[in-house]
Amino acid sequence: MTNKTYNEDDLIMLSALQHFVFCERQCALIHIEQVWEENRLTAEGHILHERVHEQDSESRGEVRIERGIALRSLRLGLSGVADVIEFHRVPGENKWQPFPVEYKRGKPKPDSCDAVQLCAQALCLEEMLELEVMRGALYYGKIHRRHEVIFDEKLRRETEETAKQVHELIASGETPRPVYKLKCDNCSLFQLCMPKTIGKRSSVKRYLGSMLREYEKTS
Ligand code: SF4
Repeated sequence: MTNKTYNEDDLIMLSALQHFVFCERQCALIHIEQVWEENRLTAEGHILHERVHEQDSESRGEVRIERGIALRSLRLGLSGVADVIEFHRVPGENKWQPFPVEYKRGKPKPDSCDAVQLCAQALCLEEMLELEVMRGALYYGKIHRRHEVIFDEKLRRETEETAKQVHELIASGETPRPVYKLKCDNCSLFQLCMPKTIGKRSSVKRYLGSMLREYEKTS
């Protein structure tokens, strides 16, 4: 990783890292082509996040809970909003240790996309507060359970590398070609991406443009 820092205008959304690890094409469709399709699953996800953000700050024993905190890292070029940051009192000291918690509608996924997004939040907190954040948690609504995540060296490197790759992808302005895979069936952009239909065409806009030209020729 270089020592480069980003300008405020060049920050990308934290969620872009999650999209990129899930599927580079999905990331490009959302963050380059600005394509989004609301469906039942994404709507449920938004409602869950809104409910979390609407709640007030609270204290539970040695834990203070803050919601909807704005995060930023100029080192990684990221910005976003944390669902929940818990502050755990350090035993015997007047210090509070941040512990990010990200809410997900579904259940744990086979890849590291959610862990990378959470780790990116931790890296933002470290830069903003100048302290170390070693742990956080992902709460999955479908199974009503939270999974602790350790921000070890491997996950940190993967998160930093993902941030770099997302910046490069967005700067390129190129949407990768669709490659149909099993997880496409669970993708919120399946209808718009058309992984089985578009084949080697790289862009939804280009595909729709070519359809329009065909239509104009025949009308
Ligand atoms: S449908 Fe498949 S290829 Fe298309 S964006 Fe979703 S996961 Fe990626």
